[in-house]
Amino acid sequence: MGSLELRPLGNTGLKVSSVGFGASPLGNVFGAVCDEEAIASVREAFRLGINFFDTSPYYGGTLSEKVLGKCLKAVGVPRNEFIVSTKCGRYIEGFDFSAERVTKSIDESLARLQLDYVDILQCHDIEFGSLDQIVNETLPALQKLKDSGKVRFIGITGLPLGIFTYVLDRVPPGTVDVILSYCHYGINDSTLEDLLPYLKSKGVGVISASPLAMGLLTESGPPEWHPASPELKAACKAAATYCKEKGKNISKLAMQYSLSNKDISSILVGMNSVRQVEENVAAAKELAAVGKDDKTLLEIEELLKPVKNQTWPSGIQQG
Ligand code: NAD
Repeated sequence: MGSLELRPLGNTGLKVSSVGFGASPLGNVFGAVCDEEAIASVREAFRLGINFFDTSPYYGGTLSEKVLGKCLKAVGVPRNEFIVSTKCGRYIEGFDFSAERVTKSIDESLARLQLDYVDILQCHDIEFGSLDQIVNETLPALQKLKDSGKVRFIGITGLPLGIFTYVLDRVPPGTVDVILSYCHYGINDSTLEDLLPYLKSKGVGVISASPLAMGLLTESGPPEWHPASPELKAACKAAATYCKEKGKNISKLAMQYSLSNKDISSILVGMNSVRQVEENVAAAKELAAVGKDDKTLLEIEELLKPVKNQTWPSGIQQG
């Protein structure tokens, strides 16, 4: 089969692999991972054509950034051949989107990542802060970091889709290069789709994370902290069991569902083993070669219909 697809990311000029490496599991967010397995996973990711890695100081209380930095160094790929995004404003101690904090934050992240610059710096889960502060204080501070060369591009992330329009409607074009949405472009929730034409009109690159709905669409199920309702968890579990009985893998189907929309530049999936890297890249290559398994996908969508687009609250009341 051919190589993993690269897709343009908005107006950045970057070309990101359609499967992106979500490094939150390297912060032991989904269970403990040893350094050897982490390094082997990142090495395998590069070998299979993944060039995009996403982390945050929040994941594992800075552990994800440290482990990713160690892995990138160990694997030794030239710096201009990979794209790293990290975040600011969300920390294990809490949220702080002040200009002072985010300006300090990038230096801390670069030290942990052992890098001179990151390709993308994103305000992490902005629905927990004041969106007006993001517009008036945080993004101007990030612009200064861009001017300094520590950051190439700027992004915003979060769960409620309304945060993206709120911010993008209030900043000059080119202020926000990318948005990262999660849990809104997968089999059980595809609400990001309606926002794609707007994002395109704003020239903003789109990254969609959590194609497996943070573990809901896996055979082993979600972690203890998962915020979904018991009803949504039960429906996804039933769908996973249904697939297994038919000899299908729900995670593969979920990856292929998310990857099939080319207006989304990269699907960030959290990975902590060589096997998961291989499976997720294989899912992408199979999709490119023979298309997705529409019959089984329709059956699962039918099973998930009662919970379709069900989400959970995130953040503070804005206004
Ligand atoms: P996900 O939907 O990608 O699921 C990750 C879980 O699925 C992990 O337990 C992982 O080990 C497992 N998994 C991966 N491949 C598998 C496979 N082939 N078979 C079975 N299980 C598999 O959720 P996620 O990790 O939360 O999201 C992906 C990444 O996106 C994160 O690591 C992070 O980098 C980013 N993200 C960002 C935000 C944000 O900025 N607010 C939010 C969510 C995710």
